[in-house]
Amino acid sequence: MEKIDILSLSSEELAAEMSSLGEKKFRAAQVFDWLHVKRAVDFQEMTNISLALRTKLSESFYINRLNIVRKLESSVDNTVKYLYELSDGNHIETVLMDYKHGNSLCISTQVGCKMGCRFCASTIAGFKRDLLPSEMLGQIYGAERDSGRKVESLVLMGIGEPLDNYENVVRFLKLLSCPEGKNLSQRHVSLSTCGLVDRIYDLAEYKFGLTLSVSLHASDNERRSQIMPVNNRYDIGELLRACRHYTDKTGRRISFEYAVISGVNDSEADAQALARLLKGMNCHVNLIPVNEIKERDFRSDRSSVQKFMERLEGYGMNVTVRRTLGSDINAACGQLRREYEI
Ligand code: SAH
Repeated sequence: MEKIDILSLSSEELAAEMSSLGEKKFRAAQVFDWLHVKRAVDFQEMTNISLALRTKLSESFYINRLNIVRKLESSVDNTVKYLYELSDGNHIETVLMDYKHGNSLCISTQVGCKMGCRFCASTIAGFKRDLLPSEMLGQIYGAERDSGRKVESLVLMGIGEPLDNYENVVRFLKLLSCPEGKNLSQRHVSLSTCGLVDRIYDLAEYKFGLTLSVSLHASDNERRSQIMPVNNRYDIGELLRACRHYTDKTGRRISFEYAVISGVNDSEADAQALARLLKGMNCHVNLIPVNEIKERDFRSDRSSVQKFMERLEGYGMNVTVRRTLGSDINAACGQLRREYEI
């Protein structure tokens, strides 16, 4: 019999599994607490549970564990970048950042990525597999255990496209905000997507309190398709329709991500086109200075990011520039894993 991934089960599912083993409900609550609050990594740690039951549990379930194989600590800020090894030997990255409002963790949702964005390191070696809910939670639990810092906000902006691993991501989001578990408010979660329109409609139905970040990066279809192949599947018009629907349904404003790339999307005409495109939407634009990756020649310079921001503000837009943290440790998505696997 194949063992069940116990960290991916909701408290109700765990109770049902344990009742089929003849155990009472309160036992399941104790086990859930050991896993998600006390963060046990082995059934033998569960000392208020009989030895016989611990043995029985270890015969039916396994506790998925991520091992830290490399850790880079920034000397300029408190950023820590983890390279985790999964139980099948694959690797993923997680970045812990120190913001004014607390510790924020950037997690991966897939091993590799199918989306093929031209400027992104995560996609270069292709796609291996989806991450399980336990492997998304494990990134948080592992970073908290190692650093002694409490993760207060979360961004799904590491390796992978979260909406391409939709079922597992939704399951993870529910586990994350479960009061008996990590109990992180969804207000402190951002999910970033390259724009899988069908899944944006699906996600809207849950009315989660999270922030949906949409990677736009260009304001016309021709240019967006050049740098983001997903635009051939769902163009800007369809994407913005889905975003408006999402805002109507959830009451949450969208955050549009725009990586400023010198000579590609940072002219006055680009600023004007972006302002026109997003006019009247309940949204915010987050400019990202593009991270240079050695396989590609996209660049951005500080002064043009600043100029682009001022231009957008001139059109009355709500704009911020993403702070660059961990610049000395290559904290951008996919970069550490690539160095490690080559
Ligand atoms: N697949 C999701 C989330 C992962 S990437 C998405 O596409 O949104 C998180 C953000 O970083 C996205 O906005 C992505 O476009 C951006 N990004 C990827 N590579 C980058 C790079 N080299 N420089 C700047 N931003 C990058």
